Amino acid sequence: MTFTICPKCGNDTSVLLSGVCRECFFQNFALAQLPQVIQARICASCGARFTRGRWTDEDNIGTIVLKTIEDNLSIHEAAEDVEVCINPRQLTPHMYKVEVEVVAAIQGERVTSDLSSEIRIIRESCEMCSRMSGGYFEGILQIRATERIPTENEIEACLRIVDMTIDRMRAKGDRLAFITDTIRSKEGLDLYIGSVNSGRHICKAIIEELGGTFSESPSLFGQKDGKEVYRITFSMRLPRFTPGDIITIGNRKIVVKHMEKKLTGTDLTDSSRFIATEDDIALAKHVGHVRDAVNAVLVSEEEHELMILDPFTFRTVNIKKPAGFSLMEDEEIPVIRIEDALFLLPPEWRKSDT
Ligand SMILES: [Zn+2]
Ligand SMILES: [Zn+2]
Repeated sequence: MTFTICPKCGNDTSVLLSGVCRECFFQNFALAQLPQVIQARICASCGARFTRGRWTDEDNIGTIVLKTIEDNLSIHEAAEDVEVCINPRQLTPHMYKVEVEVVAAIQGERVTSDLSSEIRIIRESCEMCSRMSGGYFEGILQIRATERIPTENEIEACLRIVDMTIDRMRAKGDRLAFITDTIRSKEGLDLYIGSVNSGRHICKAIIEELGGTFSESPSLFGQKDGKEVYRITFSMRLPRFTPGDIITIGNRKIVVKHMEKKLTGTDLTDSSRFIATEDDIALAKHVGHVRDAVNAVLVSEEEHELMILDPFTFRTVNIKKPAGFSLMEDEEIPVIRIEDALFLLPPEWRKSDT
């Protein structure tokens, strides 16, 4: 074994810890350090905690006390296998006494440190709560429908999507994701939104489910401290045609599946896929809905044709048999009558309740 001399005490030593012998090292060693008094800033309304320059949502005061200790506890960098035991005790609603025991291994030696601290709870109003109570908003979301009025179901769906999106944005840390005001009118719905970012996400989520398009435009809202203040208006347009609508375009009859900038659907005549731009369907007419379908009796099935008992006229009608058609004779089959002609409902709409 080779020995060196400790530069501090001059004794022979086989190992140097941070440049000194074991005895000198542990003489001034502190495994852990904790301030005697710590302030914890929490929001009296929503329970958020202020940490590292920003407000973060928290579950409860117990978690806040533990996290405050964790944030302020510093443990020696040479410590290994560290175990921390935190024991908080509430003295008053504004004060906690916390005992902390730290156990760790330093150079193979087991070291313990007992610390204590006092946490003083400072209750204030976080920026989100003060903005919310002050009616703050960065964006206005106006939900309308193209060439029609949104249905009650669509408004309900929008409100549900808004709630879900706001929850998702809040969970991601957008604390300005909130709605200050909701105004329902004959034309649709107006929402006052805390953050522009959440407004954009809401529009995208609505389009994904209900279709439609949206545009953004800034508008001068007023002046604050000599500066012009802008708000973003999101113009959300629900689609002209909704899923299940049956429309005519020229001679074609189409069941609408989804409509954003383009419309997708199924051709009633041959069940082929249909896709068109807004311009293509400018002259399209709404002629029915899949919910108007009724069951008819299949009389017979030929190679290329089906004979069906028309439930409206009680006469047998021949319809072109779609590819891959399979049904037992005498079984009922949903049909829809559009402009005096009978059509089979495309397979994807047959089991639907809409
Ligand atoms: Zn020494
Ligand atoms: Zn708050």
